[in-house]
Amino acid sequence: MAYIVAEPCIGTKDHACVDVCPVECFYEGEEILWIHPEECIDCAACEPECPVAAIFEATQVPEQWQHFIQQNADACKDGHTLPVAVQRAVWEAQKEEEGSEANLYYKKYPAKH
Ligand code: SF4
Ligand code: SF4
Repeated sequence: MAYIVAEPCIGTKDHACVDVCPVECFYEGEEILWIHPEECIDCAACEPECPVAAIFEATQVPEQWQHFIQQNADACKDGHTLPVAVQRAVWEAQKEEEGSEANLYYKKYPAKH
């Protein structure tokens, strides 16, 4: 089983998890980051780094977010069509850059946490 990202990432997406992942298996989704289930090595390093508790081991996902298990898999199933998620410092720097992916993200998904 792999770890997965669930709903609380929406509007936060701070990329803190990316910095600690030893296998770079976070990918850039529109609303949240996704974990590639076949690349994740279950090391658990990312889980405590998430400020909004959006990361779960697949068997521990709360009932209301069970569908995110399939969504993580579906987002990654065609190989690496999504970009590998950037490190947190890169994402932070982009926020101030008008029109960048991070800049547009926080206009579209205002923080709700
Ligand atoms: S559990 Fe480990 S390998 Fe899997 S996404 Fe988190 S940090 Fe990466
Ligand atoms: S640390 Fe949590 S909120 Fe931040 S990008 Fe990763 S899953 Fe999303």
